[in-house]
Amino acid sequence: MQLELSGAQQTIVESTRRLAATTLAPTTAARARAHEIPREVMLAIARAGLIGVNLDKKWGGAQAGVVAYAAAVRELAYADPAVAVTMAVTNMVAEVIAAFGSEEQKISYLPKLARGDFFAGAFALSEPGAGSDAASLTTRAVPDRDGFVLSGEKLWISHGDQSDVVIVWARTGGPGAKGITCFIVEKGAQGLSAGKPEEKMGIVASHTVPLSLDQVRVPKAARLGAEGDGFKLAMVALDGGRIGVAAQALGIGCRALDLAKARLQALERAGAGAGAGQAAQFALADMAVELDAAWLLVLRAAWLKERKRPFSREAAMAKVFASEAANRAVRAAIDLCGTGALVGDSEASRLLRDCRVTQIYEGTSEVQRLVIARDVLRQGVLS
Ligand SMILES: Cc1cc2nc3c(=O)[nH]c(=O)nc-3n(C[C@H](O)[C@H](O)[C@H](O)COP(=O)(O)OP(=O)(O)OC[C@H]3O[C@@H](n4cnc5c(N)ncnc54)[C@H](O)[C@@H]3O)c2cc1C
Repeated sequence: MQLELSGAQQTIVESTRRLAATTLAPTTAARARAHEIPREVMLAIARAGLIGVNLDKKWGGAQAGVVAYAAAVRELAYADPAVAVTMAVTNMVAEVIAAFGSEEQKISYLPKLARGDFFAGAFALSEPGAGSDAASLTTRAVPDRDGFVLSGEKLWISHGDQSDVVIVWARTGGPGAKGITCFIVEKGAQGLSAGKPEEKMGIVASHTVPLSLDQVRVPKAARLGAEGDGFKLAMVALDGGRIGVAAQALGIGCRALDLAKARLQALERAGAGAGAGQAAQFALADMAVELDAAWLLVLRAAWLKERKRPFSREAAMAKVFASEAANRAVRAAIDLCGTGALVGDSEASRLLRDCRVTQIYEGTSEVQRLVIARDVLRQGVLS
């Protein structure tokens, strides 16, 4: 058993940490104020090999694996969770195309995503009334001459207005999971339009938009995977995506821990250490234990995925534990930092707002628990 990162993985951690500290951290607050991630930021991320981290070199990826990917997401989220989610969703889109796409689809989209020619890739599954229960989605894809016509409404789509390529799930058959098929829709397709970005509580630099598909015509070649396989494909993608969200939560939690640590050290220097005392140290220790345990869960899920072994339960465990631990860590940091942390533009209050959604997207905590419980009932706990 090997618990250390390899030399190559460590190099990615260090280079991403440098990039995050120099290119992201100084301007995170400005991006949040502007509710915008500039094009150059995503280009810098791509040029650092962070779009397509787990993608073959043949397609322009870094081919660095899933552990390196998780570590990179954590480093980016430590500096700017909104950028981290944009990077993570775009990696997920690239991986879906790599895993299920035709040769032509891979040639058309993967190098452009990896090089940063595209701002991002979007994942359009959720709909009004079909969030956790994605199998009930109602967007329709009707066969028409040499292609399909897509009509329906998508909701909560990360950077759906800025992405050059959008993966859209639509119903080609009857009700339920088996009637769903996946399609690639390009930016500018006639009938595809994005609504105004939602006014969210956190990760505000990342746009989250409704997408409307009004008789969007796509060729047959735009179908991603086989007809009726769309739901299966979404679940495979979300399993991997959960490793990314867990790593994102951890980045936020680790930043909160460092804020708390700096505050306690400042108090100690000011001679108030004894006052801050043992209770504060215990709180800091609990944060450290939980975040470290969460990181081990993330590493295990990533390691399994990298070896192409089943990892669905492990990814759900990593996501539910990391997102809940990170939210507890942020709240504890706010308690330790005191009233200064409650000012609207303080970093601690931004972390509180940015962290909450990690318990919601790519499957809520309840959905993760359902995934875990079903698997435990099937196979027990120990493997
Ligand atoms: C910032 C942001 C970005 C997002 N980006 C994307 C994106 O890029 N692409 C995309 O497709 N979607 C995206 N989403 C949507 C996200 O995945 C959904 O919000 C999420 O799946 C939950 O769905 P819902 O909001 O409809 O909640 P609901 O499904 O209505 O759930 C409401 C509550 O009921 C609980 N619940 C639901 N079903 C069950 C059950 N069976 N058992 C127990 N409890 C249950 C949930 O846990 C939750 O607490 C994004 C959401 C946010 C907030």
